[in-house]
Amino acid sequence: MASGTSLKVSSMTGISRQLGKHFIYITMLSVAFITITSNVSINLFFSDYIKESRSRNDLKIVQYVEQVYSDENRLDSQSLMGILHYAYSEAVTIRLRDKRNNVVWSSGTPDTMYNMMKGNGITEDNLTFRSYPFSKDGSQVGTVDIGRPKSIITSINDAQFLNTINTVFAGAFLFSIIIAILSSTRISKKFLQPIYLIKENAKLIEYGKYDKLNEVRTNTFELHDLSVSVEELAERLEYQDALRKRMTSDIAHELRTPLATIQSHIEAFMDGVWEPGPEKLSIVLDEITRLTKLIKDLSDLSTMESDEIKLNKSQVNLSMLLNSVVESFEPLFMSKSIHLEKEIQNDIELSGDADRLNQIFVNILSNAYKYTNETGYVLISLKQLKDTAMISVTDNGIGIPREDIKHIFERFYRSDLSRNRGTGGTGIGLTISRALVEAHGGRISIESEEGRGTKVMIEFIK
Ligand code: ATP
Ligand code: MG
Repeated sequence: MASGTSLKVSSMTGISRQLGKHFIYITMLSVAFITITSNVSINLFFSDYIKESRSRNDLKIVQYVEQVYSDENRLDSQSLMGILHYAYSEAVTIRLRDKRNNVVWSSGTPDTMYNMMKGNGITEDNLTFRSYPFSKDGSQVGTVDIGRPKSIITSINDAQFLNTINTVFAGAFLFSIIIAILSSTRISKKFLQPIYLIKENAKLIEYGKYDKLNEVRTNTFELHDLSVSVEELAERLEYQDALRKRMTSDIAHELRTPLATIQSHIEAFMDGVWEPGPEKLSIVLDEITRLTKLIKDLSDLSTMESDEIKLNKSQVNLSMLLNSVVESFEPLFMSKSIHLEKEIQNDIELSGDADRLNQIFVNILSNAYKYTNETGYVLISLKQLKDTAMISVTDNGIGIPREDIKHIFERFYRSDLSRNRGTGGTGIGLTISRALVEAHGGRISIESEEGRGTKVMIEFIK
């Protein structure tokens, strides 16, 4: 495992290096692409234009030769000199042939072209010649061949043109690489800074220093999201940490009280201080029942948290089930003079696990009982709404402080109000109830106001 991790790490590279590499690749590719496309497009798009302007020029040359010839009726060395100049100024090769097609004169390659050709290794063979007859008084006296380099790029006047283009491209290339390096450094810094802070926060969380987290400032949406998620994770873990500590002390407390009672009773029996009569024994039994409930709750909770809850489903008459749970609670409520009211619609059915549904209602009703003062009021209602069965238990008891409501379904969570009253719960009832309601595909929610009362709502989809 360790060697696998180190292998992976050794083949990893930092974001800034990777970004830099990609930026440079992209820049090189773009410049190469632009160079190639501009060369190709010069060839493609300008070739027609150049061909046309060439033939226009060619005609001018032929006219010039015809004019020189008709002035003198022959081509002496002076008029040939004129044609040579013309050839040089137009950067073409002019060849003259007589009626029998023998070459009688050639201007040779002009100087400018010669230089270029020397560089590119171009000879007269690389020229394309076009032939035009030239005539005097309507009858042909010979042929003029006009030669130009085959490649259009080469023919665009001189090598300087290409040199300039290539220098510009080379400059652009260097400039773009510098820009690529600068911007990749800038961009990676912009992204990396918050990432480093988030990484540091994760380390702080690892060491449990939840209150030392760095503030991450970024205008990058994803990084902001990531940092918020890490902060939420920290909050959650901090809370779980506190919960775990509290849970240990809660359980210790829950165990200590009944065990102390049992111990003191048994000691008194043994010392002969008390006779183990039914009254004393029932106190001991009550404490044992409390301990048993605690153990059952804990084991219930661990099953629910470790595996899927297995429901033993059948068609349940929810109305009857709720009525019977309420009935079983009646003596308890009466003992506290709490006014109990039912609004239970008949014959509402649901496919579910009767025992588990029973457990949910017992938990909710026992809360209503525990957290409602004497002479209080509790309303239990069951209604059919479209395709849902809606159960609500409303009391006018002590209520739940606003800041506790969002935690109320978490295991071992008890609001300080209930703690102060010494109602002796473990804070598991609602956790179990929610898990069971959700296993039935339902939803449970709580509305409450401190000092005014609480309403628990359960909704099952039929
Ligand atoms: P137990 O595990 O024995 O049920 P508990 O009643 O304390 O213990 P839950 O039923 O999970 O635990 O309830 C959690 C907390 O929610 C309670 O401690 C109490 O603070 C608050 N609570 C629940 N129902 C009510 C209610 N009807 N009125 C006021 N507070 C309530
Ligand atoms: Mg409870």
